Amino acid sequence: MLEEVRYRRCPDCDEVMDRMIFARVSGVMIDVCRRHGAFLDTGELKRIRRFLAEDGPRRHAVARELAVEEERLRERRRPPPPPMAQPPRPLWLELLELLLR
Ligand SMILES: [Zn+2]
Repeated sequence: MLEEVRYRRCPDCDEVMDRMIFARVSGVMIDVCRRHGAFLDTGELKRIRRFLAEDGPRRHAVARELAVEEERLRERRRPPPPPMAQPPRPLWLELLELLLR
């Protein structure tokens, strides 16, 4: 299945977001802002839930993939963001919490 590649801007900071395939093997493409987290299109959360439901035991592997993916995002971005009062929470943690709610 081919999807048109389009880079979106973060609704919060207007930075161009990175695109990644959720957990690499899910086939669900999501947009990620390094500072503000992941943005899902309509239906994508459902597809991710289905992906996880079909392979429940894979959840730990998914968390690991997300952590790796996030680290890659971090390294790719050039300037380090200005120090914040509170460091951003890990992306994979937010995603997992969202999914398992
Ligand atoms: Zn942002």
